[in-house]
Amino acid sequence: LGPTVCVGEILVEIVATTVGNGFMEAQPLVGPFASGAPAIFISQCGRLGGSAAMIGAVGADDFGRVNLERLKGDGVDISAISIDPDYPTGSAFVRYRKDGSRDFVYNIATSAAARFGWSEGVSNLIGRAGHLHVMGSALSVPSACEVIDKAVDIVKARGGTLSVDPNIRKELKLDEATEQRFAQLVAKADLLLPSGEELERAAGVEGETSAIRRLFEIGVKEIVLKRGADGATYYSREGERVDAPAFIVSEIDPTGAGDCFGGAYLTCRRLGMSATDALIYAAAAGARNVTVVGPMEGAGTREQLDAFIAATERRS
Ligand code: ATP
Repeated sequence: LGPTVCVGEILVEIVATTVGNGFMEAQPLVGPFASGAPAIFISQCGRLGGSAAMIGAVGADDFGRVNLERLKGDGVDISAISIDPDYPTGSAFVRYRKDGSRDFVYNIATSAAARFGWSEGVSNLIGRAGHLHVMGSALSVPSACEVIDKAVDIVKARGGTLSVDPNIRKELKLDEATEQRFAQLVAKADLLLPSGEELERAAGVEGETSAIRRLFEIGVKEIVLKRGADGATYYSREGERVDAPAFIVSEIDPTGAGDCFGGAYLTCRRLGMSATDALIYAAAAGARNVTVVGPMEGAGTREQLDAFIAATERRS
């Protein structure tokens, strides 16, 4: 089986250490942390010992090196990450508000993260990929769409599999072409990993049961619905349902929980675990990651997740 490949944005994240609104006053910050939802996902795959590789781009700067070193250290194949000589690594400044919502200042659209395309390195990697993971957020980047379209077709034609994390807020309006592309991507997904209302967004119908039914009708094979501190639920096309209660932790930084959860779930399944066992590791990966500041600083190795599972209670 070829590696799990993830396509999309690679960023650094810089986090305000005080809670409040926005960035208008000087305040202590921490970071840069390696980030970008697809990078978090693949880091977790690599840390768990899965064969993992990333397609994306960084600038020729320290923020880029932070990411390359981090992913390489996690065992991720970085041969298809390009280094853009002209544009800086993407960045996101994040500050949490009192109610848990977040204010962001992004530099993605004019960064290396939005400028990668099909290359020899990408072609070599996709030619041997066993699984592709795509986030809906990547569809807002035209050059990423081109890579995703080609990669999905090649991987699926070779008998490989596709997972999709919609990663699109319900209220976000996409233009018609992107909306269509998103719907086509969802229909090709072997595994869909929506969070909360993204389930209905991906299905195009209201109500959890109707949305699940609709998604199986259009071709999705497995769905794992993420519900934050309320846990997650697995549904299979054959009618199986497994509820995965969350571990009880105190949340310090929620960013990246869904990506660590998804990366762990997929890797465990690809390593041969049942859905029930994979969900335990996934819930542990998501919960462990929210206990640490930084979007992927809490991603765990197999040993770390085993220790976490042994030491942590779950909700009933
Ligand atoms: P994000 O977009 O922030 O990466 P998400 O919305 O995609 O996250 P969540 O549902 O927040 O995904 O988290 C994924 C999983 O991680 C949950 O199903 C749960 O198992 C675990 N998790 C997340 N937050 C917590 C928490 N506060 N306590 C325990 N487990 C959590």
